[in-house]
Amino acid sequence: MRALCYNGIRDLRVENVPDPGIINPHDAIIRVTLSSVCGSDLHLINGYVPTVQSGDILGHEFIGEVVETGPQVKKLKKGDRVVVASVIACGECQHCQEQSFSLCDNTNPNAYIAEKMFGDSGAAIFGYSHAFGGYAGSHAEYIRVPFAEKGCFVIPEGIADDSAVFCSDAFPTGFMAADMADIKPGQVVAVWGCGGVGQMAIQSARLLGAERVIAIDGHEERLRTAQMIGGATDILNYKKVNIQDALKELTGGRGPDVCIDAVGMEAFGEGIGYYYDRAKQYVRLENDRPVVLREAIMACRKGGTVSIVGVYSGFADKIPMGAAMNKALTFKMGQMHAQRYIPRLLEYVRDGKVDPSYLITHRVGLEQGQQAYDLFYESRDHCMRAVFVP
Ligand SMILES: [Zn+2]
Ligand SMILES: [Zn+2]
Repeated sequence: MRALCYNGIRDLRVENVPDPGIINPHDAIIRVTLSSVCGSDLHLINGYVPTVQSGDILGHEFIGEVVETGPQVKKLKKGDRVVVASVIACGECQHCQEQSFSLCDNTNPNAYIAEKMFGDSGAAIFGYSHAFGGYAGSHAEYIRVPFAEKGCFVIPEGIADDSAVFCSDAFPTGFMAADMADIKPGQVVAVWGCGGVGQMAIQSARLLGAERVIAIDGHEERLRTAQMIGGATDILNYKKVNIQDALKELTGGRGPDVCIDAVGMEAFGEGIGYYYDRAKQYVRLENDRPVVLREAIMACRKGGTVSIVGVYSGFADKIPMGAAMNKALTFKMGQMHAQRYIPRLLEYVRDGKVDPSYLITHRVGLEQGQQAYDLFYESRDHCMRAVFVP
């Protein structure tokens, strides 16, 4: 089959690779019909994740059709149209039983790498480096899905492919950002980053009762989309205003109740802190550029919550712990627990409460893989999300 493979920093190529087959009785083989780029792929493609290897197939946000099932897979049948959770979870271990699927104990065969980096390993993620299991990703014609009954969700009639695909990763990630912040009706939520995950976090915050949602980004068209479609009540461009001052002004001097970081380790920014991070990251003295995280901690109101779904990979410098401690902030974070949220999110989409399909700005074949990621990374041509039709 054809697959989009990593060949080095910002060098993706289509290669012919063997078709996947059933290895474990709980596997299913899915013919991929749509597979989306995700902001977190950029950390791999840009060389910030050391355990990506030449020939690895990227991609973790996808839908497709079941073409083959292992003997233990009873709940799926050939021809089912399914959305697949981007994290791979067994459904049986203690963490899965607690619905914390991204912490699954059983799906990462390379747990020892993550243990060295993080002290322990979470679940594996499709197409997301060897530290996260080394599973083949979805930018391919076919993919093997382990623990298929736990990870595949049949898409109800009436939901278009373009909407369903984001129930795999972007929507659950944005939703979890809002859900774990325990938003109360009437609260003010600030969301840093208006890419796919940020857009979904904005919509989810509104769904969960936030009265005001302030969207922050450096791209005017993304901010406009956040306002027109996402339901953001206020928008702030960090290239034009001082975010700290603007947030104080918009909240009567208090700061937002909840600050969501939907950006993570490759934040762009302004000022001396940003250039400090870029320089240290370039020479590998720092893994992450925590521009947004610092800003969120400083801006959050006393007793508020900072909710982090943007990905961080290692060590970050100059985190204002004094501010966090003395303002009694709550930190919530994590890779998202897709399997917990997907059924509920499919209902939201079916009922017309959210339609994530507007995230798609480009639709291309695998051959345009590197160009699509370049457009996406540089936010050229108003690119919000490119999807591959393998
Ligand atoms: Zn993702
Ligand atoms: Zn598990």
